[in-house]
Amino acid sequence: MQVKAAVAPAQGADLDIRELELDDYQPDELRVRMVGSGICHTDAIVRDQWYPVPLPAVLGHEGSGVVEAVGANVQGFAVGDHVVLGPATCGDCRNCTAGHPQYCDYLFPFNFGGCRPDGSKAFRDGDTPISSHFFGQSSFAEAVNVRARNAVKVSPEVPLELLGPLGCGLNTGAGAVLNVLKPVPGSSIAIFGTGAVGLAGMLGAIAAGASQIIMVDIVPSRLEFALGLGATDVVNSKAGDPVEAIRELTGGLGVNLALDTTGVPQVFSQMTKALAVRGHGALVGAAPLGTDAAFDIGTLLTSGITISMVVEGDSVPRQFIPLLIGLYQAGRFPFDQLIKTYPFAEINQALDDSLAGGTIKPVVVF
Ligand code: NAD
Repeated sequence: MQVKAAVAPAQGADLDIRELELDDYQPDELRVRMVGSGICHTDAIVRDQWYPVPLPAVLGHEGSGVVEAVGANVQGFAVGDHVVLGPATCGDCRNCTAGHPQYCDYLFPFNFGGCRPDGSKAFRDGDTPISSHFFGQSSFAEAVNVRARNAVKVSPEVPLELLGPLGCGLNTGAGAVLNVLKPVPGSSIAIFGTGAVGLAGMLGAIAAGASQIIMVDIVPSRLEFALGLGATDVVNSKAGDPVEAIRELTGGLGVNLALDTTGVPQVFSQMTKALAVRGHGALVGAAPLGTDAAFDIGTLLTSGITISMVVEGDSVPRQFIPLLIGLYQAGRFPFDQLIKTYPFAEINQALDDSLAGGTIKPVVVF
């Protein structure tokens, strides 16, 4: 069938909306009519080839939509189901079976390989195959074929076009906080970066009852927004040393927990130094492969801190996405306030607005 899709044609180039041929869904796949797709910083860095997904490709990995057809081997889904799409995982390796599918042994080939596990690509532009199955989905298209394993059925009572970011960016921030850092009432936490990932982490920390939530960024309007949404303190790290500011705000102790969503090497080092003794910090921000960050092993040895590298919030999507939706319905995870919608035709504008800092979480609506 013919579908409109946004193709990343070459490194750094704008996405190009074209009519592509979408192949038949396979027996283990669903065909999903896309309703909305979030745009994540990771789409921009793959467009720019920090990660070598073969181009031309249809990117997009925060899709939500309606099941339009169900493969012969699929159980548990029916035409008309509302679904959010998550990353592709195998379900059988040691980490998938241990309840940590985001560390699937096949993470890279399944999500960044530009094709299905069998090597086939779902899209064609005339005779040219176009990479598909980015994060198992390639959601910048009107319809996609996706392994049923990647899909999470969601309540039809919540606005479907807004739910796609729960499959990646919001799951990443909220999951890193709720599943890995695990704040409790009384905890202090510093979050570096007030984009969608950092703010989702902040909303997770508020929902968990953390007492002090310090948001750090270099964009004043984002810091103001964070304060309005529930941060207890904000730090502009352009205006001074954020480590000193965080120590001052915590009576000299440092924070119990910290999250780096920037992927900037200096910020990672700042995060390690802002932690209290026996604190726990997590990195989720992406950097080009081969990026090193300084880690003061002399001073930090006696700190007893733990540092975690976290993929996709270390979540089990079929458990965690409904949990976040439940919190949203209870008024305790107002993620809709992070979202601005754009018509699909304005996808490049949406990407630009997000990179410029004006829009926190763009969602294109089909
Ligand atoms: P974003 O660009 O909206 O937010 C990043 C924020 O960091 C911005 O507000 C920016 O101003 C701030 N920042 C930049 N340099 C800074 C500095 N020196 N000090 C303080 N703040 C600084 O991006 P996002 O959508 O929130 O995504 C954040 C990161 O998470 C990206 O790198 C993305 O690729 C990554 N990501 C990782 C995973 C994962 O599984 N680990 C999943 C999704 C996204």
